[in-house]
Amino acid sequence: MKFVVDTHTHTVASGHAYSTVQEMAREAYVNDIEMFAITDHGPALKGAPYYYHFTNMRAIPDVLYGVRILKGVEANIIDYNGNLDMPKVCLKRLDFVIASFHDICIEPASIEEHTNAYLNLMKNPFVDAIGHPGTPEFEVDIEKVVSAAKKYGKFIEINNNSFTVRYGCEENCLNFALECKKQGVKIVCGSDAHISFDVGKFDEVYTLLERIDMPEELIMNTKASNFIEYINNKRKRIRMSDLIL
Ligand SMILES: [Zn+2]
Ligand SMILES: [Zn+2]
Repeated sequence: MKFVVDTHTHTVASGHAYSTVQEMAREAYVNDIEMFAITDHGPALKGAPYYYHFTNMRAIPDVLYGVRILKGVEANIIDYNGNLDMPKVCLKRLDFVIASFHDICIEPASIEEHTNAYLNLMKNPFVDAIGHPGTPEFEVDIEKVVSAAKKYGKFIEINNNSFTVRYGCEENCLNFALECKKQGVKIVCGSDAHISFDVGKFDEVYTLLERIDMPEELIMNTKASNFIEYINNKRKRIRMSDLIL
């Protein structure tokens, strides 16, 4: 298995990551990555940029060193109604929006509350993926979450960095992947790199997906064209809803 797209990376703008956009792109090229999403943390996380950082991402070239760059965010879930720390007008302009729980932005609660937050935020048309849902502090009803992802056309992320920094995530990540396989829900895989050298690093994810024999058609990262098609369709959908509103 070889992925050519990395959907989750952080630059120096996140406040606790260490490489510039240029360094990330250069290392992506070195690591045979054809496309990556810059998904710096949303404003609720201390040290992260204010939201207009994200509205100005058009300043970043679409292609650097031959590597295509998606402009995105890892937005923070800030309550158990599934609200995010980014206004919709800003999310709307981005190519790829991940929504994640971080315990420094929201106090962990019950399985029901965590699940409820995911179910509600999936109704947000600008959210593309649920970030590292295997996080042990934020246990959820996996079957319900995957079923909602299917209903609303969202991706479930399998995050390589979770295996290093989110102690005890293995079982949840495995169960999420198994449930996605069972329900036919597509996954996205992110390195969650906080330094350029980790862009395209998927060793733990490869092991997990090979172990469960995950069908390739459910894995978005094997072709850049998967994302080009997905994002074009999303933009079309957003333009249509603008016309209706
Ligand atoms: Zn981070
Ligand atoms: Zn995160």
